[in-house]
Amino acid sequence: MSILKYPDLAFESTEVIYKTQEDLLRRHLRHISDNSPYYRDKLQGIDIDNFKLDCLTDLPLTDKSEFSEYNDQFQAVSDRAVADMAFSSGTTGHPTKFVYTMNDLDRLAYNEAQAFRGCGVTDEDLVLLSCTMDRCFIAGLAYYSGPRSLGAAVIRNGHSTVANYLEVIMRTSPTVMVGVPSFLLRLGQYITSQGIDLASHSIKRMVCIGEPLRDRELRFLKSCQELESIWGAKVFSTYAATETITAFCECEHQMGGHFSPDLGILEIVDDNDQNVPDGEIGEVVVTPLQMEGMPMIRYKTGDISFIAGTSCSCGKNTARLGPIIGRRKQMMKIRGTSIYPQGVQAVLNELPQVKEYYLKASNNDSFSEHLTIYVALAEGQSQADYVLQKLQARLRVKPELVVAPIEEIRKVVYNPEFRKPVRFIDERK
Ligand SMILES: [Zn+2]
Repeated sequence: MSILKYPDLAFESTEVIYKTQEDLLRRHLRHISDNSPYYRDKLQGIDIDNFKLDCLTDLPLTDKSEFSEYNDQFQAVSDRAVADMAFSSGTTGHPTKFVYTMNDLDRLAYNEAQAFRGCGVTDEDLVLLSCTMDRCFIAGLAYYSGPRSLGAAVIRNGHSTVANYLEVIMRTSPTVMVGVPSFLLRLGQYITSQGIDLASHSIKRMVCIGEPLRDRELRFLKSCQELESIWGAKVFSTYAATETITAFCECEHQMGGHFSPDLGILEIVDDNDQNVPDGEIGEVVVTPLQMEGMPMIRYKTGDISFIAGTSCSCGKNTARLGPIIGRRKQMMKIRGTSIYPQGVQAVLNELPQVKEYYLKASNNDSFSEHLTIYVALAEGQSQADYVLQKLQARLRVKPELVVAPIEEIRKVVYNPEFRKPVRFIDERK
């Protein structure tokens, strides 16, 4: 099933977008009901040819635990049609497998091209990738093939040292860089410490993955402001899930993530799986349209966010996704208050006294959960009371604060076994 591409659909009227999505949804449901062992029974009795997009919520939701448990049954193509495989951590103790066909890889490239195009990347750009392409990591392939299909050139520098990155940047003068914001900030600080003025250098755009850049009100986090000023570049947040391959990426107006409406349908649901009004917080649910190898319906990503609006100054008329506020399963209940690690991180990121940190959740008995925050402070223990007060004021609960030397904290945060910095350790049973 080749991909039907409507690259400018987001700029059409909501009626045109709705009708196109409805047609694509019917096509998607037909493929699933004909080929997916997992969904075949679940779609029985549904009149696919006359299915209305309004009735989307009549369709079943799927979450990560179902996907892990019935993993192979989600495959809707023969093994011969598989072109690429990826794995992600599952809920069964075994990695969850994803299969992609050639059409899915075409879709992956188109999806990411739409995201990069949305933040102003063109065929004149040279894109430096600081994410890995290997280890069955599908996002790396997306960040490579997206800009490539726009006609841009790509440097796959992967996980490397800051000294190596300095060398590559000086030698090649890239115009766009892709990476995890905390790494990009560390790299910027390192290069600046070598006496180089990055603001007058070539990089003008940074596409940030894996960590949010904004708070609930869409204001830049402190680390993000630092990132823009140190590099003299505009930063754009992008978000996607391996299961849905539907990217949400900011445009030049930096007001939340746009997606390509020919590739997905977005919903936000509450704890009872009901759709919530725009602006209200809930779990991100995506129906990825035009997926062939492992197609899904209404996939619950486990990520918590909200719809920040349904139009934009750039002219797009699709929902904008806010920053990821947390992971559903990472939510902590501390003396009755719901707290997400990302919320705590947002406070810590804003405090200049805090040089490095990580959080640890534990539960001593079945009734209460406990949050310990390990921090390295610029002036040590003397600033602990101030930091604790700030945390308490914002979170409305008082966590435990442990001050430690920066080297000790960094050893935990930059664990080479993980792709991203480890800032949350969950020891709850
Ligand atoms: Zn926009």
